[in-house]
Amino acid sequence: MGEGVVGSGESPREEGVSAPGIPAGVVLKVDVDTFRGTREGVPGILEELERAGVKASFFFTLGADRSGRAIFRVFRKKGFLSKMARTNPLKMYGLRTLLYGTLLPAPRIGKRLSGLIRSVREAGHETGLHAWDHVKWQDSLERMSPGEIEKEIRLGVEAYGEIFGERPRLFAAPAWLATDPALEALEKAGFSAVSLSRGRVGPFRLAVGGRPLEMVEVPTTLPTLDECLGREGVTRENWNEKLLSLYRPGEVEVLTIHAETEGLAYRAELRDLLERHRRLGIPHLTLGEAACRIPAEDLPVRPLSLGTVPGRAGRVAVPGKEA
Ligand SMILES: [Zn+2]
Repeated sequence: MGEGVVGSGESPREEGVSAPGIPAGVVLKVDVDTFRGTREGVPGILEELERAGVKASFFFTLGADRSGRAIFRVFRKKGFLSKMARTNPLKMYGLRTLLYGTLLPAPRIGKRLSGLIRSVREAGHETGLHAWDHVKWQDSLERMSPGEIEKEIRLGVEAYGEIFGERPRLFAAPAWLATDPALEALEKAGFSAVSLSRGRVGPFRLAVGGRPLEMVEVPTTLPTLDECLGREGVTRENWNEKLLSLYRPGEVEVLTIHAETEGLAYRAELRDLLERHRRLGIPHLTLGEAACRIPAEDLPVRPLSLGTVPGRAGRVAVPGKEA
């Protein structure tokens, strides 16, 4: 795997069909990382989506919430401390979350909150798997054996099955981290569309070692709130303007929001964003819809590599060169 930084130099592939400045659509991808985010943040996001009449794609963490372990990242990852100082983790995650898996027992999210998780699908939204153990994937994926990765995915798939009565078809990688063994394990587990990487490119078919997989990758094309807040003059007051300025005419943008942020302390900003979308006539689509907008056989094929994005500690998966 190579190294790279996500830039905006990649030329758009899809033909513009909308008015200048207006994207062809925005995918709202909702990552749910923690017990508190599921219990308190998801209902907030559901209310805002319902108010705006928008359908989104939710990705759930279903195993034990060991977020307290994230504290130890301070010692390991460059940039984590400065991000924590900028974004006030106590406000974003709450004290209990920061202690789960350390001083407090880790609650099993999918078991404890299955009714709430099911209600997201019942409200008409798309659902997929985010993680079994978010912290483990985020901190250890690069050191895990293929067997360990398969086990993490299997546990998540089983927990999802207990809630929804079927296998998940969609997967979003915790912390946008994915390796070739993870791609192979996800393909084996039968996922049809995944969102693993960060990059300003449209959907593509993934490849491992030059071999194309069936899975379609839909990268997150926009930065996240926590990456931008406090950097380069971005405040909560001008965040949505900044976001809209990044929308590319005629392209599909994929925005990752978090139950822990936009569902709680930054809910007013989400409401304002959806209101701006309505005023500008920007349509929404789900991640699954974005994945099949172009027939799979016409999609480019790309591997993933690891790179960095501004404002985020650690490495993330980025799209490699078109094969
Ligand atoms: Zn996550």
